[in-house]
Amino acid sequence: MSNHVFPPAPQAAVPVRGDSRHYAVRRIFCVGRNYAAHAREMGFDPDREPPFYFNKTPAALVMSGATVPYAAGTRNLHHEMELVIALGKPAFHVGAEHALDCVWGYACGLDMTRRDLQQEAREAGRPWDFAKDFDDSAVISPLVPASEIGHPASGAIQLSVNGQLRQSGDLKDLIWSVPEIVANLSAYYRLQPGDLIYTGTPEGVGAVRPGDVITGRIDGVGEIALTLGPPEAG
Ligand code: MN
Repeated sequence: MSNHVFPPAPQAAVPVRGDSRHYAVRRIFCVGRNYAAHAREMGFDPDREPPFYFNKTPAALVMSGATVPYAAGTRNLHHEMELVIALGKPAFHVGAEHALDCVWGYACGLDMTRRDLQQEAREAGRPWDFAKDFDDSAVISPLVPASEIGHPASGAIQLSVNGQLRQSGDLKDLIWSVPEIVANLSAYYRLQPGDLIYTGTPEGVGAVRPGDVITGRIDGVGEIALTLGPPEAG
């Protein structure tokens, strides 16, 4: 007999490539402006300021290959192609030299963004939640274990819309590297297995429309796809 007033939501989880098991998701962190050319295209000086973060709720996750409605409440939905870190061990006040020991694996991610709402929030000094943490905003590919692919520090990261290349960067251009991000974030949170970190997007972000097909890939990590349907009726 359940002791809940209504049935609990299913545990958010991501498939693992070549494995019948899933990776249960606990929290989702995202790094802002972590490639210099993207910081510049958003109107910022990419000098090495400390990393900053925002969060998405696991309820925002959607698996690669899905068709989702064009997001509610925006007229400027943007794609952001990102490498995702999946933690497999607790990390709290861990140094960068030990941080990779806590990383279980990686995935391709899309940090879908309501850019018009983000710009309004920026101008008003308000939080980014409305712009970043919404239904279907955290797209993710199957995870691949670091025990299989290692820890990617370089390699192409690309995104196309309807087959046309929009974003093309290299993981070596991350301002804050994977071990540096894990180390920095672990100074502020008791990171745990199940915590995902979207590491930021290279330049070339842009708008998508109903009917668009987004495809992305990261060398050595995998591929991701998302199809946008019409906006959902209320
Ligand atoms: Mn992003």
